[in-house]
Amino acid sequence: MDVHTLAIYTSLLAATVASAMLLTHKYILAGTTLGVNYIAYAALLLGASVTPLSFGVTQSSESIVFLSNGAYATAFGLLLVGITVLRGASRSFLVISIIISSLGISFFLYSALIAPSVTSRIEARSILVVTICILALCANYSGEKHDNREAKCLLNLTLLINILYMAIRGVLAHTKGTNSNYYLISDIHKLSFVIMTITIVSLAFSVFWILTDRLLKQTYRSSITDEQTGLYNRRGLAELIPKLVQPGRESDISVLMADLDHFKKINDTYGHDKGDDVIKHFGQILEDTCRTSDFCFRYGGEEFVVMLPRANKIQAMQIAERIRNHAKHNSNQELSSGTYTVSIGVTQALINDDWNSLIKRADNALYDAKSQGRDCIVER
Ligand code: GH3
Ligand code: MG
Ligand code: MG
Repeated sequence: MDVHTLAIYTSLLAATVASAMLLTHKYILAGTTLGVNYIAYAALLLGASVTPLSFGVTQSSESIVFLSNGAYATAFGLLLVGITVLRGASRSFLVISIIISSLGISFFLYSALIAPSVTSRIEARSILVVTICILALCANYSGEKHDNREAKCLLNLTLLINILYMAIRGVLAHTKGTNSNYYLISDIHKLSFVIMTITIVSLAFSVFWILTDRLLKQTYRSSITDEQTGLYNRRGLAELIPKLVQPGRESDISVLMADLDHFKKINDTYGHDKGDDVIKHFGQILEDTCRTSDFCFRYGGEEFVVMLPRANKIQAMQIAERIRNHAKHNSNQELSSGTYTVSIGVTQALINDDWNSLIKRADNALYDAKSQGRDCIVER
């Protein structure tokens, strides 16, 4: 294909893909996922850098040469910014990106106005792309966000293709020189349009993959989480039971079942909102008291279940005692509705227990605690 056609095709593709990303950013993500917009602008500018060639404008005009190369340098700077923000990488990548892009733009200004040379421009573009793509690889790798591994690999592969191609192109330009008429460039240089196409499409695909994966994970998390307390809900319990309770398998797993005492009275005296605060307060006590390996669930209105893997009944009783104490002794200072108490039933899984037999025993122990006057712990 001739350079003219390749340039038209690449510009249009870049504009279409960038628009799709910007529309997604504005309307689907409501502007909440920063980074996508910068990557979209990067794609747009990449396309814009070859747009003058679509109109037959080539190396003859210095200002066009500068604008085209400036757009190219800015595109890669924005790409690094976008990947850094999207992946939650260190902000120092942003500073480096601004410095490198500014250096690139200054060089292109110099080589367009003072010492025009197609070869040195290609060399500079190669150094710029290789450096920025290596930094973007690092930003993608070190980002704090827990994103889909395969999507991250695809993003890395896109960056790697650019690194390899630009390294080869830079070396060839340095050793063999290049044609000053851009419309007569060799195939290896024409390949840059193909690489640009792959980069734009693959970038967009990686970004959409990362975003879709985040949305799916977020939807799943909220489907198994109780909105009020942030603990797991009944659905979360149903998902986790098969992993935690397996009949016939020896396992040190204990269960606590807790119910707030005279909760109706709290609602009646202080109102439903204050009642909600008590529920949240107790949810926080469970989070604070339990180990990271434990699982806390809001089982019903003011009823909670805690699964304690690798805890025997004695250890479970100690944890239950800490929970009961915390509620009783801290609630007065921490809540305007004053002190509340909790009754807890404790049991440990027997070898042949299934979930129903295990929870039934915990429920019976809780019932006993209520019968014994509340604000106490009973084990079965
Ligand atoms: P007991 O000591 O026997 O447990 O007495 P209780 O008053 O706590 O009795 P019960 O467990 O039957 O009452 C639970 C009450 O909790 C009834 C319901 O209106 C209230 N409740 C359930 N969910 C919520 C909630 O999300 N917020 C508030 N404020 N109240 C709730
Ligand atoms: Mg109750
Ligand atoms: Mg209850």
